[in-house]
Amino acid sequence: MAPLPSPRQQLLTDVSIAIDPAAVLLTLNRGRRIDRLNADMAAAVTTARRLIRPAAAMAWVRVTSVTAETVTLDSMEAGSRHAVSLNIGPHADLMAAAVIALISVGTIGDDLDAAVRELNHKGELLQAYLLDSAGVVALSEVGRAVREQAEAEASRRNWGVSPSLGPGTLDGWPLTGQRGLWGFLESDGPAGAAAIGITLGENGVLTPHKSATGLIGLGAAYRSRRVGSVCGFCQLRHTCWRRRNSSRAADGPPAIADP
Ligand code: SF4
Repeated sequence: MAPLPSPRQQLLTDVSIAIDPAAVLLTLNRGRRIDRLNADMAAAVTTARRLIRPAAAMAWVRVTSVTAETVTLDSMEAGSRHAVSLNIGPHADLMAAAVIALISVGTIGDDLDAAVRELNHKGELLQAYLLDSAGVVALSEVGRAVREQAEAEASRRNWGVSPSLGPGTLDGWPLTGQRGLWGFLESDGPAGAAAIGITLGENGVLTPHKSATGLIGLGAAYRSRRVGSVCGFCQLRHTCWRRRNSSRAADGPPAIADP
């Protein structure tokens, strides 16, 4: 049985966030420059950098079985065991090569969303929109930091990695699927999600709002050394402004970081 990394649960609190105002604007405008908004976007990014509190809680688990739509995860350790079968939908095969997996929940805190609400309340809709967009990119940067952890662990084992899968984005895995992942993330106080201020409500919604859970598989049979995105299999692919390449393969390199 492959050993899990130690410690099994970890926090990421020193997350470097890169937000390029020009790149955010280009993506928002589907690759076309919109120079009259440069100053507004730069101001929004400056504000975002002041307001974000990037952090992530992570948990390593074993992948004990993958069937047509179900992945079974197990964090068995001496004296403690937590096992869950998750119905992640018809793309469960993306986890078929996984021996272990990294579960995560990342956040940028609530201060940015509070500022967006305030701007909306004052009728400053453009500034609210640009600040919110900078926050979305900041959250994707937290996701990048998590992916790098998975890639580093896979590299140590000479393994590859799956794409990054998330409830509420992967086709067939509803947002309520977060509850199955949550059980692994809250089980240890000091390194659990609550330690960085993230909670999961009865309604299955994370607080702060700009938080996201994810699942990445690691195994010798994966060919990719980089965690790709699942834009092609994403429930949001027809509306997501961060999706730039509609033909990108599920295990190809991400053009834009996943949540
Ligand atoms: S970037 Fe891709 S995977 Fe992420 S929400 Fe947008 S379409 Fe979905």
